[in-house]
Amino acid sequence: MDDIEYAICEECGSEFVKRSSKMKALCPECTHILYGYPNCDHVFKDGKCIKCHWNGSRSEYIKQLLDKH
Ligand SMILES: [Zn+2]
Ligand SMILES: [Zn+2]
Repeated sequence: MDDIEYAICEECGSEFVKRSSKMKALCPECTHILYGYPNCDHVFKDGKCIKCHWNGSRSEYIKQLLDKH
């Protein structure tokens, strides 16, 4: 049996699969943008990624960071 644990990202507020991220409190998308960790190769279905469960949310802070690039 697959024992999948979920957590809520402190940055974007999305649910994510704990083992998909290098950090306990952040989804792979946010760890990638904030700390440069490898991102999940997202595959979206029904409004969330089937791999990491990130739902596409971005915090205002993340949006600002992305705007600078
Ligand atoms: Zn996040
Ligand atoms: Zn993903």
